[in-house]
Amino acid sequence: MSFNVAVDGPAGAGKSTIARAVAREMNLIYVDTGAMYRAMALFMLKEKVALDDRAGIAEKCRQADITIRYEDGEQVVVLNGENVNAFLRTEEVGNAASAVSPVPEVREKLVELQKQLAAQSDCIMDGRDIGTCVLPAAQLKIYLTASSAVRAKRRYDELAAKGEACDLQKIQADIEERDYRDMHREMSPLKQAEDAVLVDTSDMSVDQVISRIIGLCRERFG
Ligand code: C5P
Repeated sequence: MSFNVAVDGPAGAGKSTIARAVAREMNLIYVDTGAMYRAMALFMLKEKVALDDRAGIAEKCRQADITIRYEDGEQVVVLNGENVNAFLRTEEVGNAASAVSPVPEVREKLVELQKQLAAQSDCIMDGRDIGTCVLPAAQLKIYLTASSAVRAKRRYDELAAKGEACDLQKIQADIEERDYRDMHREMSPLKQAEDAVLVDTSDMSVDQVISRIIGLCRERFG
């Protein structure tokens, strides 16, 4: 049986940074499920499907073939034969992902892929519903969070470092809107699994969070 760590939490809590570092240290594969929803969103944007057209998204998602491969330990998302990693991490695609992710047909398709990956390999998988729906039997579940003000500031610093113009208040408002949508949707809303360990990173450094989670992994797996 493979060893699975589930990491859930709201946008900007640091899930991917932390999961990637823990994966390296513990020799696990890092599975970024948000990137799969982002690839699906990119497909809908390219195909000009309106983001509020649920029936249209449900129908169109059948034409999106999304797979994952690893290059030098990095996850590569392949959408209909094309490596789309370079297009996934924009605010536009993130917000679109949050609009397409409530559609059941989208979730069924991507959850299936996620379950297959976790069955095949020891992995740390991050997302919104990993501990609650995708990997309910994961040996370790973490719910990673931080206040929306702290998360907005982190995203702002990230964008500013890339030289992108941004507005802190707007980022915080977008984050809060995205949290609301992710927590209140009907299917697989974001919530802490009952058996998940809560880690609030508002006042922790990245290294502190990584050490804490590696500690939890070692406790569980020896
Ligand atoms: O984590 P990331 O910001 O890349 O996720 C983008 C969006 O994809 C989230 O806001 C959420 O709506 C959706 N998502 C999801 N379930 C997951 C991962 C992401 O619904 N397991």
